[in-house]
Amino acid sequence: MNITIIGCGYVGLTTGVALAYLKHNVIGIDKDLNKIMLLKQRKSPIHERGLEILLQETPKWIEFQSDINQAAADADVIIIAVGTPAKKNGEADTSSVEEAARDIAFGLKENRSYTVVVKSTVPIGSNRRVETVINRVLNSRGISAEVSIASNPEFLREGMALSDTFYPDRIVAGSESEKAIEVLRKMYQPILEQTFNPPSFLPRPEHYNLPPLVTTNPASAEMIKYAANAFLALKISYINEIGGLCEKVGADVTEVARGIGLDPRIGARFLNAGIGWGGSCFPKDTSALLALGTEYNYSMSIVEASRNVNLRQRQIVLEKLQTQLKVLRGRTIGILGLAFKPDTDDVRESPVLEIIKLLIERGANVRVHDPVALANAQKVLAGFEIDYFDDPYTVAAGCDALILITEWDYYRNLDFIKLKTEMKIPFLLDGRNFLNPSELKNAGFIYEGIGR
Ligand code: NAD
Repeated sequence: MNITIIGCGYVGLTTGVALAYLKHNVIGIDKDLNKIMLLKQRKSPIHERGLEILLQETPKWIEFQSDINQAAADADVIIIAVGTPAKKNGEADTSSVEEAARDIAFGLKENRSYTVVVKSTVPIGSNRRVETVINRVLNSRGISAEVSIASNPEFLREGMALSDTFYPDRIVAGSESEKAIEVLRKMYQPILEQTFNPPSFLPRPEHYNLPPLVTTNPASAEMIKYAANAFLALKISYINEIGGLCEKVGADVTEVARGIGLDPRIGARFLNAGIGWGGSCFPKDTSALLALGTEYNYSMSIVEASRNVNLRQRQIVLEKLQTQLKVLRGRTIGILGLAFKPDTDDVRESPVLEIIKLLIERGANVRVHDPVALANAQKVLAGFEIDYFDDPYTVAAGCDALILITEWDYYRNLDFIKLKTEMKIPFLLDGRNFLNPSELKNAGFIYEGIGR
């Protein structure tokens, strides 16, 4: 199939490269010319395992450009995968989706049929809005084309994006048009039936079950995405709330999480207590859900509570430092990890951004390290006085405390004795309960986790 993808970010690029690997003819479009320049050289603008390898393996099947017109005109399927960040009032900003829809419509050819797929996470009703925008442009051009719209929300996890794309739990397709659903079924057929040869670095997981295609109407498909993200965020906030009480009563939240997670009705995943969730999805999607509730005068107190608990987790980091060091002014605090989770360079809404700002407000000196996210963090923290290092031992030099923010595997294998020797006060706050407390204590650290 000829597929055009608008937006070559974490979702669009991963989807495009995977579809190219499945031997669809793909054109990736982005208005960011730097991204397009890198992609033309088959270099990935984002850190995502295997993406660059597949980019280099699929030169015949995927190309990149910034001009949407011709790419839309000759496509069978056009996928919108642009960003939908939060507006100041919490609602999702769908202006890029509408802009993409308009640009697509200006490219469509008379008397041809197209399927336009909305993959971006969008508020309920946005698919209909995309249809209206496209039809309005077609009317203004005085041409007609058969355009079917489908919602196809994305569930990939950054850091695991290709794996989640090739081996999803489910694929959701929401449309009023039978034809659009059939087009999506055909496009995803190799994944639905797992008929492709897996990339060498990404074998099919053992005991992997074929993913169902969940077909529904557009409103339900749009809601599935928000409801899924809000539930996952809630699970983490729940264990964090339990973790706070664990600390007070002398229980260990990691043991409690294990004990409850073995119940299949609960499940072990997303029960890791720590400094809370961040990233490009949970914060904006929970706020969009709340905004949607407000629009209908419907209170969503569970989602709201989950956000409040999450914000409290960042304050807890400060409280723990203050308990240990008393005064933060003039102290040097080292940060290990800036990405909102491991295996990605994405720092959008990473809890560390707020923590760093709070530390600087209180007069602390901040030194930071991350294996891949330093450059992105530097951009979003421009203007703050922070020392950036590409070596964790240099970060530790002279520190009154170290905080582990991102559970990169790399940090598990640090030479902790060497790390401790560099520090003024060997206080290590493990914001993810990721390191081994006894190993750290044996190395001479004052170790503290969250909720234990
Ligand atoms: P991103 O910011 O990484 O990428 C979006 C890209 O779209 C950017 O490269 C931007 O330059 C481009 N763009 C914006 N407007 C454009 C336009 N009019 N024409 C051409 N290009 C345009 O965003 P992302 O993380 O890939 O997320 C995309 C969507 O998918 C969002 O709605 C997000 O909520 C959703 N989503 C993201 C994830 C994730 O883990 N990142 C997972 C599931 C769903």
